[in-house]
Amino acid sequence: MQILDGKKLSLEIKEEIKTKVSEYKSKLGKVPGLSVIIVGEDPASQVYVRSKAKTCNEIGMNSEVIELPESVSQQDLLKKVEDLNNNPDVHGILVQQPLPKHIDEFAVTLAIAPEKDVDGFHPENVGRLVIGRLEECFLSCTPYGIIEILKRYNISTKGKHCVIVGRSNIVGKPMANLMVQKLDGMNCTVTVCHSATPDIGSHTQNADILIAAIGKAKLITGDMVKPGAVVIDVGMNRVEDPSAKRGYRLVGDVDYDAAREKASAITPVPGGVGPMTIAMLISNTLKSFERAHQTV
Ligand code: NAP
Repeated sequence: MQILDGKKLSLEIKEEIKTKVSEYKSKLGKVPGLSVIIVGEDPASQVYVRSKAKTCNEIGMNSEVIELPESVSQQDLLKKVEDLNNNPDVHGILVQQPLPKHIDEFAVTLAIAPEKDVDGFHPENVGRLVIGRLEECFLSCTPYGIIEILKRYNISTKGKHCVIVGRSNIVGKPMANLMVQKLDGMNCTVTVCHSATPDIGSHTQNADILIAAIGKAKLITGDMVKPGAVVIDVGMNRVEDPSAKRGYRLVGDVDYDAAREKASAITPVPGGVGPMTIAMLISNTLKSFERAHQTV
C-alpha cells in the first residue's frame, strides 16, 4: 500500500518553480506576480490568503493581498479587478470566496481576465478544459493537483474506471472532465455521484480510482472501497478533538484507517491533496507569466 504524499510532491513542485523564477529574474529582470483580493474578515479565508501570499514570497514571486471591507460595493470590487487586469506586473488574480451576500460571485468570476484567472474558474477556462484544450487554459487548482499526484506516482489511468463523489464547480465537475479527456487527460471511464445518487457504495465498489470531494467526514467507509483501488481524498473536515491543540483535527471524506486496508494507494488528510492545491496555484501563476512573456 502506497501513501500518496502530496506534501512531499508539493515541495518538489515549489522547488522546480523557484528555480524557474530565479532564472527569469536574471534573464528578464522580472518575476511572476499574484494578487489576491479578500473581502471581509472571515478567519478561514484570511488563513488561506496569507498562506498563498507566503508561498509566493518563499518562491521569489511577487504577491499582494488586497483587503477590502465587508461593506465594499460590487462596483468598487469590479473596478479593483479591472485595475489588476490592466496591470502588466500582475499575472494571477484571485478573489477569495465566499464573498458577502450582496456581491454576485459569478459577476466577479466573469470580470477576471481569463488569461490571469489562475483559479481556473472563468467560463472561458472551464470551456477550454471541457473541450480538451488543456494547454490553453488554467486548470482548476485542486483537480490539477490530483492529476499531478497521479502522474508523478506513475499511476496508470487509461481505461480505468474512475468514480468521483461530489459535483462542485471547483472540484467534482472539473475533475470528471479531466479524468475523461483522451489527449493530455487520464483517459478513464468516469462515473460522478452526488447527493441524489442512491446507494453510492454500489458505484464506489467498482472504482479503480475513487475520488471523494464531498465535505462529509468519513462518508466513504472501508466496505465502499474496491480492493486495490487508488483512493484520493479531497475532503477537509474539522472534527472535535479535545486532545488536539486547537480542539479539533482535520479528517477527510474517507475513513482512512479502514480504506488503507483495501487500497493500493491513498492520499492522507492532511498532507495529501491540500498542499498540492496551493502548489498548482503557484504553477498557474508561473504559466501566466510565461505566456505573457512568450517564454513557452
Ligand atoms: P461542495 O461545493 O459542498 O460540494 C460537495 C459535493 O458533495 C456536492 O456535489 C454534493 O452533492 C455532494 N454531496 C454532499 N453530501 C453528499 C452525500 N451524503 N452523498 C453524496 N454526495 C454528497 O464542496 P467542495 O467545494 O467540492 O469541497 C468538498 C470537500 O473538499 C470539502 O471538505 C472541502 O473542504 C474540500 N476541499 C479541499 C480542497 C483541498 O485543497 N484539499 C479544495 C477544495 C475543497 P449535491 O451537488 O447534490 O449537493
